[in-house]
Amino acid sequence: MLKKSIVCLVTVFLLFISSVPASASELHPRYNKGEMVYLTFDDGPNQYTPKLLDVLKRYNVKATFFILGKKIKGNEAILQRIVDEGHTIGLHSMTHDKKTFYHSPKTAVNEMKQVQQLIFDITGVKSTTIRVPYGSVPHMTKAHRQAMEKAGFRMWDWNVDTLDWKYKKDQNVMRYQTIKQVRAHRSYYQASIILMHDHSTSPESLSYMLRHLTREKFVFLTTDQAKEPYHFYKKWYGKSH
Ligand SMILES: [Zn+2]
Repeated sequence: MLKKSIVCLVTVFLLFISSVPASASELHPRYNKGEMVYLTFDDGPNQYTPKLLDVLKRYNVKATFFILGKKIKGNEAILQRIVDEGHTIGLHSMTHDKKTFYHSPKTAVNEMKQVQQLIFDITGVKSTTIRVPYGSVPHMTKAHRQAMEKAGFRMWDWNVDTLDWKYKKDQNVMRYQTIKQVRAHRSYYQASIILMHDHSTSPESLSYMLRHLTREKFVFLTTDQAKEPYHFYKKWYGKSH
């Protein structure tokens, strides 16, 4: 009898454990946080996205794509390919227009809801992960952040800015500086969230960075594998400005 109830308890416990979503460190117990890299691409889908997807496939690496609503029309097949190849979808507004998007907490939330619906209609994926245009500082007021949270969105910023748009013609500098920052994060056990753009990071640069980082045993994760989203605010309801 006692044996039976112990077995029963253990089964319940195991079922409970398996239903708890795994955090990144649980998924990869051998890695410390500093070896974790989140590749993120903003502003797509566009004509440059497929070549980036080819590179990611070659290295068997998954990334997160923050989709811009106004870029979806005509690029539906590319959006579907991102999903089919196992990457994570995030939302990056409809307009990308500073004034329109940040006009009020409501306009910001509505844009995210719109792009969320568009993506859902095409792919069946309902993403709640967002990256706001130009990053959350300084545009996201406390009211904006509260409204986003109330709507169920999880906001992500970044901690490695490749500045790929600035170094579009001089990508060697971009590659070098990016790898240097990722290594620096590793030295103080901090995960790297790398910001890139479909239209500015070349496939050659992505390939170069992946070649070096995979050789150095970094592990690549997507935002949905993280326990907590990364954003510039220490706490969601942290200091307002
Ligand atoms: Zn953007």
